[in-house]
Amino acid sequence: MKLDSLENLFLHEIRDLLSAEKQLLKALPKMAKAASSENLKAAIESHLEETKMQVERLEQIFEELGKSPRGPQCKAMAGLVEEAQELIDEEGEESVKDAALIGSAQRVEHYEMAGYGCARTYAEMLGMTNAAELLQQTLDEEKAADEKLNSLALSEINQQAQG
Ligand code: FE
Ligand code: FE
Ligand code: FE
Ligand code: ZN
Repeated sequence: MKLDSLENLFLHEIRDLLSAEKQLLKALPKMAKAASSENLKAAIESHLEETKMQVERLEQIFEELGKSPRGPQCKAMAGLVEEAQELIDEEGEESVKDAALIGSAQRVEHYEMAGYGCARTYAEMLGMTNAAELLQQTLDEEKAADEKLNSLALSEINQQAQG
């Protein structure tokens, strides 16, 4: 798609986000399964449920705009998921692997936060009030997920990893 208008850039961004979220629908169950800490497993599983809603919000935006949701694969998320899988496949101590999983999950959340922040701002500028609200809801969930992971790391997982 030509990047010749803010609207086209907005469409590019939300197609990228939809691709990223759909990749996460497949990756998060693997990450939850790989987690040893019950709290970490639960946090990832609850974010998987939120991710299903996030996909629906993006699809709703495309529907309201009458635009196709189809776009290229988000290569950044493919890379983040691939790196997470490499860590999952490593031999090692359960507790250290949990700390590594949190680092991978936080990378994912930060990528999403950047994407949703940009898309939300473009939607506001373009007068797409409803789209901006839906994107803000998801942005808030991504931030909360990141904070949850951070507090789990600080309260439990990193100490366990240190032994
Ligand atoms: Fe998400
Ligand atoms: Fe991307
Ligand atoms: Fe990397
Ligand atoms: Zn997320």
